[in-house]
Amino acid sequence: MPQKTKNTPMMEQYLGIKAQYPDAFLFYRLGDFYELFYEDAEKAAQILELTLTSRNRNADDPIPMCGVPHHAAQGYIDVLIEKGFKVAICEQVEDPKTTKGMVKREVVQLVTPGTVLQGKELDAKENNYLTALYHEGEQAGYGFAYADLSTGELKASHLFDSDSVINECTSLQTKEIVVNFDLPAELIQKLEQLSILISRQDLMTPNAELSYLTANLSDTLASQAAGNLIAYLSETQKRHLGHLQQAIAYEPSHFLKMDYYSKYNLELAKSIRTGEKKGTLLWLLDETQTAMGGRLLKQWLDRPLIQGNLIHERQNMVESLLNAYFERLEIKENLKKVYDLERLVGRISFGNVNGRDLLQLKQSLSQIPQLRQTLEGLNTEGIWEELLMDLALLPEVSDLISCAINEEAPLSITEGNLICDGYHEQLDTYRDAMRNGKQWLAELEAKEREATGIKTLKIKFNRVFGYFIEITKSNLGEIPEGRYERKQTLANAERYVTPELKEMETLILEAEEKSQELEYHLFLAVREEIKQHISHLQQLAGAVATLDVLQSFAMVSETYNYVRPTMTPNQHHLEIVDGRHPVVEKVVGHQEYVPNTVMMPDAVDILLITGPNMSGKSTYMRQLALIVVMAQMGCFVPAEKAILPIFDQIFTRIGASDDLISGQSTFMVEMMEANQALRHATVNSLILFDELGRGTATYDGMALAQAIIEYIHQHVRAKTLFSTHYHEITVLEQTLDGLKNCHVGAVEQDGEVVFLHKMMDGPADKSYGVHVARLAGLPDELLTRASVILAHLEQQQVAADLAKEVVAEEVKSVDVFKQSNSEDHQSNDEQIEISQLNLFGDITEVEQSVIDSLKQLNLLTMNPMEAMTKLYDLQQKLTD
Ligand code: ADP
Repeated sequence: MPQKTKNTPMMEQYLGIKAQYPDAFLFYRLGDFYELFYEDAEKAAQILELTLTSRNRNADDPIPMCGVPHHAAQGYIDVLIEKGFKVAICEQVEDPKTTKGMVKREVVQLVTPGTVLQGKELDAKENNYLTALYHEGEQAGYGFAYADLSTGELKASHLFDSDSVINECTSLQTKEIVVNFDLPAELIQKLEQLSILISRQDLMTPNAELSYLTANLSDTLASQAAGNLIAYLSETQKRHLGHLQQAIAYEPSHFLKMDYYSKYNLELAKSIRTGEKKGTLLWLLDETQTAMGGRLLKQWLDRPLIQGNLIHERQNMVESLLNAYFERLEIKENLKKVYDLERLVGRISFGNVNGRDLLQLKQSLSQIPQLRQTLEGLNTEGIWEELLMDLALLPEVSDLISCAINEEAPLSITEGNLICDGYHEQLDTYRDAMRNGKQWLAELEAKEREATGIKTLKIKFNRVFGYFIEITKSNLGEIPEGRYERKQTLANAERYVTPELKEMETLILEAEEKSQELEYHLFLAVREEIKQHISHLQQLAGAVATLDVLQSFAMVSETYNYVRPTMTPNQHHLEIVDGRHPVVEKVVGHQEYVPNTVMMPDAVDILLITGPNMSGKSTYMRQLALIVVMAQMGCFVPAEKAILPIFDQIFTRIGASDDLISGQSTFMVEMMEANQALRHATVNSLILFDELGRGTATYDGMALAQAIIEYIHQHVRAKTLFSTHYHEITVLEQTLDGLKNCHVGAVEQDGEVVFLHKMMDGPADKSYGVHVARLAGLPDELLTRASVILAHLEQQQVAADLAKEVVAEEVKSVDVFKQSNSEDHQSNDEQIEISQLNLFGDITEVEQSVIDSLKQLNLLTMNPMEAMTKLYDLQQKLTD
C-alpha cells in the first residue's frame, strides 16, 4: 500500500489515521466529499457501485480513490453497515478558511453494526443490541453484556458455556459482539455463521465518569463485560453517553428458557418460511401503538416469566383493561400520539436533536396527564399503583419546551426560527430590528415607485447580492439621472442599490446572523436543561411501553376471545379445554379452527400422539407451547379454560429444519435437539417431539423413539408431547404408567380421507399415507401400485409383525430367522410363516434363492417402502 514516490502531507495524514482503523472503511473528508483510498476505495467502489478513480494519476503508482458527497453519505454508510462493515468518519476539525497549511482531521465517530443510530438498519420496533463477551484467566464461564445505544438499555450476566452465549446472541439478534480475548475457533465459527461481527476491545479504558453504570453488578465477570462494552462505545462514539442506563444484572434462568431451536421452531418472532414477522406469535400479539411498546413486547416474548406473582400482576392489569372497553380505547388513542421517547432521549443525550424532536417530546408528554387520569380511574385494588409511579408528568420539561421552542421550528438548528418570541430579550431585540427593517424596505419600495413613477419597481434579496432595487428594461428611461448606483445587468432588467439601502441591509443581515447564532445557543441550553431529566424520561418511557404492551394483550385477548389462565406453580396438572393455535386460528378463521383439549393431570407425563400426516399433530403440539408462552408473558390464552403449571424450559423438535448455525443434517439436528432436551429438561419443563427418528432408517428411528420415550418417562418426567408415525410404539401405554395414547381422528368417505383435526383418546388405527400422497397429486398409476402393495402387505402382516417383534424385545431382526429353526419355537404367527417358507421340507431351487435373499437382507438400513417392495418381489418368485 505505501507509495514508492513520496507521500504528500495530506496522504501522510490519511495513512496515519487509517492505521488506527485498519478494520473500518475510512471516510476521509475533503471539502464537500468523503474520499476513500487504496483498498478501501477498491472494495467500496465495488460494493457501493462507485466509480474508481485515482489520485496522482500520472505517477508510477497512482492511488486508487473513490468518493461520496458528504450530504449523501448516510445512504452509503447504511449499505456498508448493513453488510456488516465498520465506517470511520473522519472530519476536518479546523476551519479550512482560517487555517494555514494542512487542516487537522480526526475520526469523530466509528459507526459499526452494533452501534448504528440511524438509517434503515434501525427499525422502530426492533432493538439494535451490541453485545460483549468477557473472559479472563482461569475464571469459569463468560461475562456477557448487551446494550442498545439508541435507547440506553444496558444489561449484564454471567454465562457458563458457549451454548448459552449463542442462545443469548441469537435471541438478542445482535449484529456485533465485543470480545477481550481470543475466542475458541468453534465459537468464532458459530458467530460468523450467524453473521455476527466480532470486534476486539482489549483495554478497559477506566472512565471514572461512567463507572456508576456498572456499580450495581456484583458479579465480577458480568461487570467487566459491561465495562468493556461501555469502553467500546466510548471509543467508537467519542461523545457523551449520559443516556446509558445503569446496568441491570439478569439471569437467563430467571425466565422461561427456550433455546434458539425452540424459538425458531415455534415461530415466535420470525416465520420459518419467509423469515418475516407475519405469521408469527409476535405478529398476532402486536397491537402496540408505540415503537417502545413494540420493542418491549418483543423482549417479553423473548423472556417469558417464571415467577407466579409477576405473571399474576400482568394478568391483573390485562384483565383490568379488558373489562374497561372505553378506557382502553382512550388509552390507545393517547398512546398513538406518543413518539419514541426512549430514542428521543438517546438523541438528546447524543446531541442529535432538532427543534421538531423537542416538539415531539412535548407532544408525547402532553398525553401523560390523560393517561394517568384514565389509569387512576381503573386503579381499584392498587393494580396500577406501581406503573402510575413511573408515569410522571415532568412539567419542567414540557413547560420549558412550550415557552422556548417555536411550534413551526424547522429541521435545521442553525438557521433560526427555532425559539419562541418572548423567550429571550436580546433575541427579541434582533427580531425587532429585522422586522422593522422589513417594514422599512416595504416603505422604501413604495417611496421609490412614487418618485420614479415605475409601478413594477421591486426591492428584492438574494444571497449573493443582498438587497437591491430591480427595474425592468422597458422602464429604465424613467429613472431620474444619478438616483441609483448600478449593481447588476440581467437580460430584461437592471439591478441597483442606494447608500441608504446598503446601510439597512447591513443592519438587517447582522441582526439575522446574530439572532441565528443566539437561537442556536439558546437551543443548546434548552437541550442541556432537558438532559438533566434523562433518567426520569427513561422511567416514563418504560412505563408507557409497559402500558402499551398490556393494552395490546387486552386488545388481542378481547378480539380473539382468550381466557385468563390459572397458573399453578409447583404443580403438574395441565388442563387446556378447547385450546386453539392462535396464529392458525387467525389465519384460517375461528369458524374453521377445530379446538382441542390437552389434559395432562399429575399422573400423565407423556402424550403419545398418532394420526395421519397432515391431520394436525404438530399444530396441536405448537398450540400447547404457544399457550404456555403467552400465559407466562402475562397474556390471556386461546382456550375455553386453562390451568397451567409454570414451566421452566421448553424444548422442541418440530418440523424438518436443517441447522442454520452449523449446517448439520436434519437427523443430526434431531438428535442434537433431543440431546439438549434430555440433558437439560427438568420435571418442570415442557418437551415437544414431533416425529422424532423420522430422519433415519425405520428400525433405527423406531428404536431411538422408544428409548427416548422410556428415558423421559424414567429419568426426566417432564410434560412431553411425542408425535409419531410408528404405530408400533403405542403398545408402550401398557407398560409406562405415565404415558397416554391419543390420536387425531380421520374418516374415510367414498375412498377419500377427511381429517377431523380432532384429538381423541387411544392410538390411531392406520396412517393413510397413500391418501395423503393422493392429496399431494402423485400420479394415479403410482397410487394404484402403492395401494396394491399396501393391501398385500396388510394381508401378510409380515412387515408389521417383524416390527412388533423389534419394539417388544430388542432390535435383533436377523435372529428371527435363526430362531425359527429352533424346535421349541412357540409363536403361531411365525409357524405360519415358517410353513409358508417351507424351511424344514425339501425345497426347490427358487425357494432356496428366496431364503438366501431373505437372509442377506439388511433390514436395519431399509425403509418400509423398500422392505415392502422386496417382500413383494420375493413372494412373486414363490407364487410364479
Ligand atoms: P401433521 O403434523 O399431522 O402433519 P399439521 O399440524 O402440520 O399436521 O397440520 C396440517 C394442516 O392442517 C395445518 O397446516 C392446518 O392448516 C390444518 N390444521 C391443523 N390442525 C387444525 C385444527 N385444529 N383446526 C383446523 N385446521 C387445522
